[in-house]
Amino acid sequence: MSTDPKEAREPATRVARDALQRPLHDLRISVLDQCNFRCPYCMPEDEFHADYEFLRRSQRLTYDEILRIARAAASLGVSKLRLTGGEPLLDKNLPTLVEGLAKIPGVDDIAMTTNGMLLAANAGRLAAAGLHRVTVSLDSLDEDVFRRMSGGRGDLNKVLEGIAAATAAGLTPLKINVVVQRGVNDRTVLDLLEHFRGTGHIVRLIEFMDVGNQNGWRLDQVVPSQQLLDKVQARWPLRRLDQNYPGEVARRYAYVDGEGEIGFISSVTDPFCGDCSRARLSADGVLYTCLFANRGTDLRESLRVGADDEELTDVLSQIWLQRGDRYSELRRPEVAEAHVLRKVEMYRIGG
Ligand code: SF4
Repeated sequence: MSTDPKEAREPATRVARDALQRPLHDLRISVLDQCNFRCPYCMPEDEFHADYEFLRRSQRLTYDEILRIARAAASLGVSKLRLTGGEPLLDKNLPTLVEGLAKIPGVDDIAMTTNGMLLAANAGRLAAAGLHRVTVSLDSLDEDVFRRMSGGRGDLNKVLEGIAAATAAGLTPLKINVVVQRGVNDRTVLDLLEHFRGTGHIVRLIEFMDVGNQNGWRLDQVVPSQQLLDKVQARWPLRRLDQNYPGEVARRYAYVDGEGEIGFISSVTDPFCGDCSRARLSADGVLYTCLFANRGTDLRESLRVGADDEELTDVLSQIWLQRGDRYSELRRPEVAEAHVLRKVEMYRIGG
């Protein structure tokens, strides 16, 4: 039996499918709700000020509880885990959790989404623990725009150092997520693409979404992916690539001149709910079956009242079997703009 943490393990014996026959394939695990940024579209400063009460340690799942849920999910078909937050690297012991996750049978892809500020100091430890790759949220390379979009807390050089360290540690393919907002960072997109062309890093341009309840989303702030695609094509010819796997969120394109790949994530103008295979676990143990869910299921309660692994797996299986989420396909912009639907906050479940 190989001890290499990157070696794939035996697949699950049964694959849970939801009410739309979508398999449970990905579990996103929020390890904590805190963040060192205050991005206005996720955690605006005025709401999440210095006295804001985040989850206490005792309210958050322990590593053992996370591992039990991840094992149960893997037995139902999950093979891809993504660590998120808030900002997951604020958890200094994260490599310990990664080591445990890397031993779970059936899991062959462990990724992490981070804002990159603490990546340089942690990339090596995480790779050694079994992390496969990282996605860095980086909305602009324009210092002022970056500062505004990180709520005045980000340091661009630190993020770029983090990307370099993650690359050196082999946490690749490294993806760069860019949330594009009209009139905020759309004019700096081509410069960012130029910077990462030829690096092997994959930039994904994400349509601004009405996640949570805080970001004051309006449709006219969205730059449709087609518009961005035309803008990029005018500068660098692109050719369409096939999906890597069903349920992949990005529409993939390659530069015809061989300088790499980019992607478009178009939840507003080209929703992808049809093969959405993602479940999300909050740091306090609530399982959500959609990024735009208005309620979830408290697994922490089940764990702390003594549910065994079989009972936990049954609970998970029941949740998924009843799942019918397809928010983005059903989104009505006028309703979304009215902000009447109470949705889970993105910082609680990671994007
Ligand atoms: S809106 Fe919900 S169901 Fe649709 S792709 Fe996003 S997370 Fe999946």
